[in-house]
Amino acid sequence: MGNEVSDRVIQECVDRISLVCRPGRSYPLHEPFLDFQDAEEVNRCIKSGWVSYVGPATHEFETALSSYTGIPHVICTSSGTTALQLLLRGLDIQPESEVLVPALTFAATAAAIIHAGAIPHFVDVEECALGVDPAALDNYLSDSCRQSSDGKFINVATGRVVSALLPVHTFGLACRIKELRALADSYNILLVEDAAEGLGSTFSGQHVGGFGHGSILSFNGNKIVTTGGGGAVLTYDLEVAERVRHLSSTAKTPHPWRFFHDEVGFNFRLPSLNAALGVSQMRKLESMLATKRTLHSDYKSAFDGFSSATVINEPDDGSSNYWLSTIRWRGLEAGGLDRLLQSLHEHRIMARPIWEPLHTLAPYKHFPHAPLPVTEMLARELVSLPSGVGVREV
Ligand SMILES: *Cc1c(COP(=O)(O)O)cnc(C)c1O
Repeated sequence: MGNEVSDRVIQECVDRISLVCRPGRSYPLHEPFLDFQDAEEVNRCIKSGWVSYVGPATHEFETALSSYTGIPHVICTSSGTTALQLLLRGLDIQPESEVLVPALTFAATAAAIIHAGAIPHFVDVEECALGVDPAALDNYLSDSCRQSSDGKFINVATGRVVSALLPVHTFGLACRIKELRALADSYNILLVEDAAEGLGSTFSGQHVGGFGHGSILSFNGNKIVTTGGGGAVLTYDLEVAERVRHLSSTAKTPHPWRFFHDEVGFNFRLPSLNAALGVSQMRKLESMLATKRTLHSDYKSAFDGFSSATVINEPDDGSSNYWLSTIRWRGLEAGGLDRLLQSLHEHRIMARPIWEPLHTLAPYKHFPHAPLPVTEMLARELVSLPSGVGVREV
């Protein structure tokens, strides 16, 4: 029990967080930032009568996302999860093929792979920006996979095709996306980015989500920009975009009145009622990002001189939206993590640990995985702090 973290050190950590999350109110992890302008925009949509995805607000929101990210084709969907499912289908990911995905991500990333008919294959992340580790991945793949004579990349243990790599920009920290693109190209597999948490983050000056064959965003209530619920597929590839758009809206072929459907489609589009909120939120994005950066630096100052835990910074070549400000407590044991979270919640500070590694959860534990030492270590050491604009502005 000698190395168990003491109550005194935990209390000091809570005291430092309380310099930012001052006593007297509760602090959700990431509440939406909504004001009268949002209400006006939604009201305008209601008054127009065009509330479904056919209405103009859906298109307007797609245009705003495209011009902000610089990625030409955007299709808004009912959620980030459905966006990812559609994108994988739109890219013709082979059924029963394996998609390489970090074990340390939100469950929706792996669920969407399965909904698209493929199989998640969990790989490890690196400590700096919490994204897929290109060097560890390269080593692992060169040991466990082989190139077939017809150019396919095969997992030797399962005999299945490996079709894609799906890295995540965790908490808005850009992963090493250029190295991952080069790696995917060298193995002749697709690169798909889960940028659900990445709106406003860049790598080498370019918005995340534009480095591979396609990417997704989420506009869930807790994300940077919200539409209540929603998501988007982003791609440079017009053909993929058209296929995603078609699949997303019942696969109906254009005709002024008849119902011709040329395959089994989905109903995964974002209604204009929701998109109207997105349009108004996009107008505030820059100011929300600025507030979140200030909040991150407030936390950094609060942790100045604390030796047990540090606030995670953006990587050298990436600018983060700081969706969630997160601290890392090296060597913290599971019991210490729970005691810290317990104490924070008693102070009405709704901090959260990072996700349970997916390969440890019942629905996902029978899928293949690489050795995951960094994932398993980080899962005990990370605590995300209240990071909504409202921590500073209310
Ligand atoms: C939020 C999120 C998703 C899913 O988005 P929804 O809109 O909630 O369906 C997928 N991946 C990551 C990393 C997320 O944070």
